[in-house]
Amino acid sequence: MPVSPIQSKLPDVGTTIFTVMSQLALEQGAVNLGQGFPDFMMSDELTSLVNEAMKKGYNQYVHMNGLLLLRERLAEKAEKLYKTKISPDTQITITPGGTYAIYTALTTVLRPGDEVIVFEPAYDSYIPNIEVNGATPVRISLQFPDYSIPWEEVRAKVNSKTRMIMINTPHNPTGAVLREQDMEELRKIVADTNILILSDEVYEHLIYDEIPHQSILRYPDLLERSFVCFSFGKTYHCTGWKLGYCISSPELMKEFRKVHQFNCFCCDTPKQVGIAEYIQNEEAYLSLGGFLQKKRDYFRELMKATPFQCIPSHGSYFECYSYGHFSDEADKDLAIRLTKEYGIAMIPVSAFYKNGDDNKVLRFCFAKKEETLEKAVAKLVHLK
Ligand code: PMP
Ligand code: GLN
Repeated sequence: MPVSPIQSKLPDVGTTIFTVMSQLALEQGAVNLGQGFPDFMMSDELTSLVNEAMKKGYNQYVHMNGLLLLRERLAEKAEKLYKTKISPDTQITITPGGTYAIYTALTTVLRPGDEVIVFEPAYDSYIPNIEVNGATPVRISLQFPDYSIPWEEVRAKVNSKTRMIMINTPHNPTGAVLREQDMEELRKIVADTNILILSDEVYEHLIYDEIPHQSILRYPDLLERSFVCFSFGKTYHCTGWKLGYCISSPELMKEFRKVHQFNCFCCDTPKQVGIAEYIQNEEAYLSLGGFLQKKRDYFRELMKATPFQCIPSHGSYFECYSYGHFSDEADKDLAIRLTKEYGIAMIPVSAFYKNGDDNKVLRFCFAKKEETLEKAVAKLVHLK
């Protein structure tokens, strides 16, 4: 007897826009400023450290919470950067990437009926990760065009079912960053409630214009109720390594680890050994903002020769550009047309809204070699 098809847990979900646009770019031989990944080499030193770790025999399972030395050094780093004491033993878990850390945190706490406040445009895994756990996303649009959080609306949407608020700074896809006043608003809203926070800080070091990163780690009272997610892929230009970590309170982390241990159990050992050594090189992460800011500025300058209008980014790999002043075309159609006809791929920002809201904005990844950026923009200059 044929098996009956399963009832989809995610009936509205198709293939992620990142795969769709990267695949199209590949087929069309287009310059890919879509999916967020660098096209330049990562550090030779870090690659060698991982190779050495493999040769030295660090190839078996590591502790399920992650290599202790790496967790210790992450705690030292957090104390240096954010003046918060974190226990490597009870508050940090190494994960196979930031996305996994987010999924695990949501799965740890969410139950059917729970509501999660999520800001749109939202990184594309958030809403499916909420829904697959039977919870309900309560979507709030960031204010166009600066993509700031409308805190009054957040206050209005909080109720007894609100289990979590998700924040992301620096923000994908817009490059918006949260300021101290935002953290104060958040603090006021969650005070005297049981609301938890998920803070996606994978772009922690990719922040520009001398703006300090508003990590939850700066706020011990918020950390008590937060899962804070990071990605080594972003910090060390190795998105394909899929390695990250989560920091939380000891109580929340205890539950997180119950889910984690029966999902992936532990992550890639040699990479953890290599990073534990390389993380001592503070310059490698402290110089990242300056390095990528130069790329953003270079790209922004090049884009002045096109009809697109810049929506300034202050962080992340991305800058958004609007085109509503010269075209009515749907952003998805324009992104596909530019890839096919002009040979440049990018991401339509409507893909980051559950209902496909279209403000006529495209997201470009500037974490590329200068020659790649030049090649890409040269194609856009001819846009009609
Ligand atoms: N959150 C955001 C906002 C991202 O842009 C990314 C990038 N992929 C991630 C999480 C996930 O990072 P990772 O590749 O380490 O899973
Ligand atoms: N974070 C990357 C982006 O936003 C891609 C991640 C992915 O492909 N899942 O483009």
